[in-house]
Amino acid sequence: MIESFKSKFVWEAKMKKYAMPIIMLVVFETVAITLWLTKNKLFYLFNFSYIGLSISLGVFLYIKKYKYARRIVQLLVGLYMLVYLGLICNENMQIEGFWYYLFTGVFEAATIHYAVAKIFGPLIFGRGWCGYACWTAMVLDFLPYKVPKEPRRKIGWIRYITFAASLIFVAALFLAHVGSLERIMFWAFIIGNILYYTTGIILAFSFKDNRAFCKYICPITVFLKPMSYFSLIRLKCDKEKCISCGKCKRVCPMNVDVTDNSRKRKNGTECILCMECVKNCPKDAL
Ligand code: SF4
Ligand code: SF4
Ligand code: SF4
Repeated sequence: MIESFKSKFVWEAKMKKYAMPIIMLVVFETVAITLWLTKNKLFYLFNFSYIGLSISLGVFLYIKKYKYARRIVQLLVGLYMLVYLGLICNENMQIEGFWYYLFTGVFEAATIHYAVAKIFGPLIFGRGWCGYACWTAMVLDFLPYKVPKEPRRKIGWIRYITFAASLIFVAALFLAHVGSLERIMFWAFIIGNILYYTTGIILAFSFKDNRAFCKYICPITVFLKPMSYFSLIRLKCDKEKCISCGKCKRVCPMNVDVTDNSRKRKNGTECILCMECVKNCPKDAL
């Protein structure tokens, strides 16, 4: 009797521990099956199942305390989107691709991607996209300044300029009735990525901060920041355990004041859920 009670207890503890990767898998499978059946395209089943499996694997490895869990997800998802979807399937998943599909009135490729990962998804998983899937950050995170070496600058307004520029660029193509738009979108994807990587790398070295591009230039943050403000999944600090050592803030790549539990905490909408603060907290307070 005692033995069976013990094994039930161990089983329940294990289930609780692995709940997150299971939940992630179920959420992505639900999206995959729903889109497959409603759009009648097997691609969606493959696409979202692959992304869901990659993310669940990453969360599982994180629970197992594998040091490179996040980097593995970044590479699995980022390379898939950049190389397979972008270069092989010619899908522009950048912001211009989103405007393009939006103007054509088609709920396909980039519009679905933006709806799931960057507009409505952040209401649940915040800026998880930025921590685990973005192919721009996948490269930037290899650079040497994982923790910013200089204070944050007040130039975040640049993101609104890049956001407006991408919208004006695509709107102008439509207004001018330019032909071969699909081809233009493919080249916009190539040139856009070259520009993103070049600017990102130059900024990282100039500001001694791998994520400078994310903080000041990236147009997608115009969607990501306000939506992630309401995120269901967010880090909280257990004030009973916290000894105010400040280590969490020192290791944070995004300068988030994670010990403040309010939604208005400093740089709260910048959190990319990278878990560096959690890993480094000496009191398990996060
Ligand atoms: S802020 Fe932009 S570039 Fe940075 S990780 Fe997020 S989507 Fe990618
Ligand atoms: S690292 Fe942990 S104990 Fe130190 S300030 Fe942050 S939450 Fe508190
Ligand atoms: S270190 Fe913590 S607060 Fe900072 S971005 Fe990563 S998860 Fe968010």
